[in-house]
Amino acid sequence: TFHFDINKIRQQFPILDREINGKPLIYFDNGASSQKPQMVLDAIDNYYGKFNANVHRGIHTLSQEATVMMENSREKIQKFIHAEHPHEIIFTRGTTEGINLVARGIQNLINSNDEILISEIEHHSNIVPWQMLCQKTGAKLKYIPLLDDGTLDISQLDELITEKTKLVAVNQISNALGTINPIEKIIKKAHQAGAWVLIDAAQSAPHTPIDVQKLDADFLVFSGHKMYAPTGVGILYGKETILDQLDPFHGGGEMIKEVFMDHSTYAGLPFKFEAGTPNIEGNIVLGTAIDFMESIGIQTIHNYEHELLDYATNQLSELEEVQIYAKDAPRSGAISFNLNLDGVHPSDVGMILDKKGIAVRTGHHCAQPIMRKFEIPGTVRASFAIFNTKEEIDQLIEGVKLSIKMLG
Ligand code: PMP
Repeated sequence: TFHFDINKIRQQFPILDREINGKPLIYFDNGASSQKPQMVLDAIDNYYGKFNANVHRGIHTLSQEATVMMENSREKIQKFIHAEHPHEIIFTRGTTEGINLVARGIQNLINSNDEILISEIEHHSNIVPWQMLCQKTGAKLKYIPLLDDGTLDISQLDELITEKTKLVAVNQISNALGTINPIEKIIKKAHQAGAWVLIDAAQSAPHTPIDVQKLDADFLVFSGHKMYAPTGVGILYGKETILDQLDPFHGGGEMIKEVFMDHSTYAGLPFKFEAGTPNIEGNIVLGTAIDFMESIGIQTIHNYEHELLDYATNQLSELEEVQIYAKDAPRSGAISFNLNLDGVHPSDVGMILDKKGIAVRTGHHCAQPIMRKFEIPGTVRASFAIFNTKEEIDQLIEGVKLSIKMLG
């Protein structure tokens, strides 16, 4: 029922030819970092082999070509998330840097009467920068609670969001549980109170179509390496009128208009937030990764991965020793589970699966507050990409059964 040939897709990922412990690699750790298609590897080669030069600097041809390639990629990303302007796309090192940029950029707009609202289901990178901001400004950090079923308790939003709330920061899809959070409702409530909203799209951009204008998100961040691009590149989207109010994050070359001995004036968007020589190759190749995704279709990727997720959920549900977290909540891209056997740690399962060539993530997934709430040390997480198959999930189920036998 899908208009693509899964074998052709798999052929585009050279790493799938690898053997791990004598078994063909089965890669279910895409939530941490996805594998890269040949198109992306070729684009890296092509840039360094034919176009390598610093951007926005030289009058010489190479520099201009590299600049055009990077700015074309910015426009591709703009269209990918349906932003109004290309200069609303700021290149970053990744999600973490994007969130830190906003937390530092708004610091001068925050005082001790203000509140920042996040949730109990955030990645550490969407917790720690806000703790740092609150420590510096005296503002209060509040949390939307996580319920036992893995969903956020948004019935409390009316009490949690007040006229003191300056910013709400939440993820669209949880990396730890794979749950889809009701960001539309959160954005609406926040805007009614005059607060800005930052969406952490690290786990949604690889799996779902995103329209920042329809969402009315004020900021949105993601990382390239989770969506078929290299590491060290990501983006911050911000509404032009809001980005203009933020202080620059880093000072240096490229982000200035004029520099005097005693002060400097800053460049406009997007360069105000892009000090120093950027990750030119990464910024260009993020555009190639988007080409790859669009050649299949973002909605097709979403539907296919959803079918894999449903299949994995159904298969794992049949094993009574397996506990799936947020099982009945809306989820996308990932399944998080444990063996409910005495004294079994998620890493025990991860080690047995690795012996069978199956790569999963085990541990707290940089989301310790969730694990503390559920009173578990961590989970086993299988996270999917377009090159995964139901046959691979069958292998995962066999590996889990073997783990039950060995650890039970
Ligand atoms: N937020 C979420 C939801 C994530 O899954 C991740 C990566 N695991 C991050 C933030 C941080 O991304 P990065 O390490 O690429 O900056």
